[in-house]
Amino acid sequence: MKFKSIIFIFLTLITIIYAILIYQISLSTYTKTKPYIVCTTTIIHDTVKNICKDTVELVALMGPGIDPHLYKPVESDIFKIASADIIFYNGLHLEAKMGELFEILAKHQTTVAVTQDIPTNLLLPVMGYQTIYDPHVWFDISLWMNAVETVYQALIVKIPEHADLYRQNKINYLQRLETALQQSQQMMSTIPIEKRVLITAHDAFSYFGRLYGCKVVALQGISTESSPGAYDVQEIIQLIYTQKIPAIFIESSIPIKNILAIQEGVAAYGYHVNLGGQLYSDALGCKGSQGATYIDMIMHNMQTIVSALQ
Ligand SMILES: [Zn+2]
Repeated sequence: MKFKSIIFIFLTLITIIYAILIYQISLSTYTKTKPYIVCTTTIIHDTVKNICKDTVELVALMGPGIDPHLYKPVESDIFKIASADIIFYNGLHLEAKMGELFEILAKHQTTVAVTQDIPTNLLLPVMGYQTIYDPHVWFDISLWMNAVETVYQALIVKIPEHADLYRQNKINYLQRLETALQQSQQMMSTIPIEKRVLITAHDAFSYFGRLYGCKVVALQGISTESSPGAYDVQEIIQLIYTQKIPAIFIESSIPIKNILAIQEGVAAYGYHVNLGGQLYSDALGCKGSQGATYIDMIMHNMQTIVSALQ
């Protein structure tokens, strides 16, 4: 662990201990009416919401459009974490430094990485590593169904009085996910295999590519903290104009400039590549948007990709 990471965790832990003390004092004047659950991402928040409905008070630390790779907790997050009955996070290093913090907190608080029960043989290793895995598992609906089960198991241990309700909600939600899986596969089947090339800003779509038989090319690596991924810019530009790829995609939580640079680079070769639309990658959209829930996000992305690659 790097020195800066150790300092970060140490200082954050001290702040959390302080926040817990303040919280314990405030409990004497404030009584919680519902269990308080903290999630890191909007995708996890939506998953928990589908099981718990309104039986809990639920917050996401990272809002719509927020990049989890770069996120650092703010002061109000520390108080939320300190007062949480359960903390759900993605794990697999999605939350960068916060993930290490949650691992330490797990000794004292119910802290659950929702990806913890996914068999490692179903995870995709990060290029160059054998035991570090791509965290973007939600792009394979069948893997996310495993995360739903993990969330459910943690909930019924901590909140057993709602176990029957949670079980039924989980069954209903898993059925909706199964339907979304089948619909999305049907949509992708309308695109010929050779046209299934997805070019995006950062490497979030490897599980998507595996599930739907799609070649995935990204400008940046698995984390937005990292420098370019497996492909360099010139390689991507050449791929686009030699294969006449019709569209490239922007992501809701990543600045657009790098994708625009690719479009300009291709134009220099006399070929126009469209911007295929905005995909939701590491965060859901705002309430009322086309990516406001996990299922909406999956269907919006698939609709956008299929329309652009026709
Ligand atoms: Zn990402």
